[in-house]
Amino acid sequence: MDFQLTEEQLEIKKWAHEFAEKEIRPVADEYDRTGEFPWPVIKKAAEAGIYSMDLYMQSQQDSSGLTLPLVMEEIFWGCAGIGLSIFGTGLPLAALANSGSSEQLFEWAPKMFGTPDDPKVAAFAVTEPQAGSDVSSLTTRATRDGDEWVLSGQKVFITNGGVADVTVVVATVDPELGHRGQASFIVSKDDPGFSTGKKEDKLGIRASDTSEIILDECRIPLDRILGGLEKLEGKLERARKGESTGRSSTALRTFEMTRPSVAIQAVGIARAALEFAADYAKERVAFGVPIAQHQSIQNMIADMAVDVESARLLVHKAAWLAASGQPFEKAEGSMSKLKAGEVAVSVTEKAIQILGGYGYIKDFPVEKWYRDSKIYTIFEGTSEMQRRVISRAVFGTA
Ligand SMILES: Cc1cc2nc3c(=O)[nH]c(=O)nc-3n(C[C@H](O)[C@H](O)[C@H](O)COP(=O)(O)OP(=O)(O)OC[C@H]3O[C@@H](n4cnc5c(N)ncnc54)[C@H](O)[C@@H]3O)c2cc1C
Repeated sequence: MDFQLTEEQLEIKKWAHEFAEKEIRPVADEYDRTGEFPWPVIKKAAEAGIYSMDLYMQSQQDSSGLTLPLVMEEIFWGCAGIGLSIFGTGLPLAALANSGSSEQLFEWAPKMFGTPDDPKVAAFAVTEPQAGSDVSSLTTRATRDGDEWVLSGQKVFITNGGVADVTVVVATVDPELGHRGQASFIVSKDDPGFSTGKKEDKLGIRASDTSEIILDECRIPLDRILGGLEKLEGKLERARKGESTGRSSTALRTFEMTRPSVAIQAVGIARAALEFAADYAKERVAFGVPIAQHQSIQNMIADMAVDVESARLLVHKAAWLAASGQPFEKAEGSMSKLKAGEVAVSVTEKAIQILGGYGYIKDFPVEKWYRDSKIYTIFEGTSEMQRRVISRAVFGTA
């Protein structure tokens, strides 16, 4: 076991940190206030080669699996809302790469990211007003009509939903079969019947677009089903006979794959808060000494440091397992997401405590990090759902 990062990884980490420090931190507050989508920062990230790095990594042999998490930690250290705008396309990309054919990947991945001069973003739409954690109860329907699929339904809380050129939509083809009757479809914003609805006004990650998607008899060509028609028919046939379909649904599989990437985002926020609080504690004087000399503050800083380090280790292990093609037998992806999400909330909360009144006001960035962190116990599987997955792995009932 070797924990030493290579020269190249250290260089990449430094490069990403400099980008976050120069291009993200200075505008984080403004985008948090306005809730505008940070296209100018995405453009700069595209020019620098950070945006679409997830696409590039698909073609690279990174046996450690650490390059992307190292970059993401730095970017989310800069701002989680902007970070999610830069890396949110990774989620639909994972769905496409995991469940699509190689032809679909070659055709649609470039459309998801656009070009450095004209970057685009993409979305992955699973959640519905009445179905979040319970992915098996989706009601968005996909029905075949000759040479087309007709999609009807409503999706809510979709990251990049209002700004995406391409959206991967999960819909049910056979409602009787629960998640085994579902399939994923590639939908373009220009397809007839596709529209976006309400943009959510959120507690945190406010630079990230979270919007409703409406599919009103949205018509798309037959070949837009991920993995192709034949694969779907085989899967439905086996499900109807009660046989195993082999793998879980696209939605669940995609979330499994992307959990370590989401977890490292939370580590980035937590680290930002730890660093800020430690610097502040060295400067702020109370009772004649810097507060860093008070044992209660030292204890909080120590607990925060242990939490950040342990969350990062879980993420790096899960990323390494995934890169080396090993399954998450102990639900390591869920473990990393659960731990990092909860650490981000508790570390940012302690950072506010260390700053006292200054932690609570908007002149300092700590209250923003606290607001940003909370989503990490909710999206891509709530903490309760992660615990469910982990306990099932322990009990052997997965
Ligand atoms: C900012 C933001 C961005 C998002 N981005 C996307 C996106 O890009 N794509 C997408 O498809 N979705 C997205 N979502 C949706 C998100 O994944 C869901 O909100 C989340 O999965 C929870 O679903 P829900 O909100 O319906 O809560 P519910 O499923 O209704 O859960 C409510 C509460 O009940 C608990 N609960 C439910 N079932 C159980 C159980 N069996 N055991 C124990 N507790 C349980 C939950 O943990 C939670 O505490 C996003 C949401 C937000 C807020």
